[in-house]
Amino acid sequence: MKTYQHWIDGAEVEPASGAWLDSVDPYTGETWARIPRGNAQDAERAVAAAHRAMHEGEWSQMTASQRGRILRKIGDLLSEPEVAQRLAEIESRDNGKILAEMHGQLAYLPEHWYYYAGLADKIEGAVLPVDKAEMVAMTYREPVGVVAALTAWNSPLMFFTIKCAPALAAGCSVVLKPSEFASVSSLELAALTKRAGLPDGVINVVTGLGQEVGTALVEHRDVAKVTFTGSDVTGAKVYEAAARGMKRVAMELGGKSPNIVFDDADLDMAVVGAVSGIFAAGGQMCTAGSRLLVQNSIREKFTERLVAMARDLKLGDPMKAGTNIGPIATRPQYEKVLHYIALAKAEGARCILGGSPASGEGLGIGQFVEPTIFTDVSNGMRIAQEEVFGPVLSIIGFDTEAQALEIGNDVAYGLAAGVWTRDVGRAMRMSKRLRAGMVWVNTYRAYSFVVPIGGMKQSGLGRESGVEAVDDYLETKSVMISTASSAPSNPFLQR
Ligand code: NAD
Repeated sequence: MKTYQHWIDGAEVEPASGAWLDSVDPYTGETWARIPRGNAQDAERAVAAAHRAMHEGEWSQMTASQRGRILRKIGDLLSEPEVAQRLAEIESRDNGKILAEMHGQLAYLPEHWYYYAGLADKIEGAVLPVDKAEMVAMTYREPVGVVAALTAWNSPLMFFTIKCAPALAAGCSVVLKPSEFASVSSLELAALTKRAGLPDGVINVVTGLGQEVGTALVEHRDVAKVTFTGSDVTGAKVYEAAARGMKRVAMELGGKSPNIVFDDADLDMAVVGAVSGIFAAGGQMCTAGSRLLVQNSIREKFTERLVAMARDLKLGDPMKAGTNIGPIATRPQYEKVLHYIALAKAEGARCILGGSPASGEGLGIGQFVEPTIFTDVSNGMRIAQEEVFGPVLSIIGFDTEAQALEIGNDVAYGLAAGVWTRDVGRAMRMSKRLRAGMVWVNTYRAYSFVVPIGGMKQSGLGRESGVEAVDDYLETKSVMISTASSAPSNPFLQR
């Protein structure tokens, strides 16, 4: 079992508290690593390192092209088979995500770094056609400053990448605090960036509890921006704390996304999209298609096909080939999922698949929940309104396109939505009117580093991925320069 240290200023640093937290494998229940229990002193040390790197160090002097070359090198290192294998295994062990999915993710992560490597030296200000004769006006796009990044447990390497790559392209430095439930992969990736030639202090990782080290980061005077991925309840607290310091914020929060199947859809494709939309990663995805809206004319037939496919999903060891769904990543999350299943039953939803915890041979300590499908759900029920973050699907019927739209939008969240139809006009109408940051048509869970993703309404603020993500790490500075050769005759008249 390895005991990890914080990663601060390019080196391993013991926690000031002298205390560690256990990293528990959700499949075996074993403590497989220990991570530092950070506190305000560690946050102080990490922010000081990031601040020095931004304002005094080598990083502050580098050209944008040099920054881009380092990002490219990080992508290259992540592509090395031994590195990718090691990081994939670490994350599977930490949060129970199946290894096959982690391999896919690791194969794609370098592309994010390459994309932002290419963008680093395309960040341009402008010379403005100012309405004054003897004046030049221009804008600089400057890095916003030290960034505090707080991330969730379900995809730590992806969050590290989609926050740090654009932040570094913009010239910022970062202190990242991963979830206390899955921190090891972030510590390892931070150390890898040193091998890529990233100067010390540009990326720092401190671990520990949100209320201890997380809060200290958000409240730190020298942190200019807070980027958060997590639940809406915590997000609101972090937003408030950041507002007190007038910090820039980005919030990637939860969802209750509608996946809408019309009767003219290719049902073979739609059934696969519905299953992967809710049961991939055991439903522990912010974009999970957890409300399946099915047109009543096909509801019975479609539900039968869906249940038949979901019934065959194999629960098991996330490291084993052939496993479709791993354990629920954390004990509190496992309990939360079961609580929502009980609640749905009490509300009168009809459970037609699963609905129970799963244990027994091949299921480790049994922190599993069966793929669960509820029907007879009405959109007002809590099971249709609140995020479960587990393998629990609610089926809701509708008759018309207008009804589908109304039910789809009738929720506090607005992260993602799916539409299954062969009618191009309907696809266009629905994608325009759904209040979600990402709409998928005849597909679900498609992501690209060039496509912005983020939430409307309670699902958050700001966008990650794409060019826009870099903009979020920049400030515009305007500069006006007089070209006059003599002083104005009246000092009180504006030029
Ligand atoms: P969480 O809100 O409990 O924690 C997120 C992070 O915030 C963790 O690092 C945690 O330690 C930290 N934190 C907790 N309290 C804090 C405080 N007071 N101050 C500062 N930091 C604090 O979320 P979670 O349980 O780790 O993740 C699950 C949630 O994340 C789900 O709601 C899911 O929808 C959401 N999520 C959103 C996206 C997205 O991109 N929109 C992606 C993945 C997950």
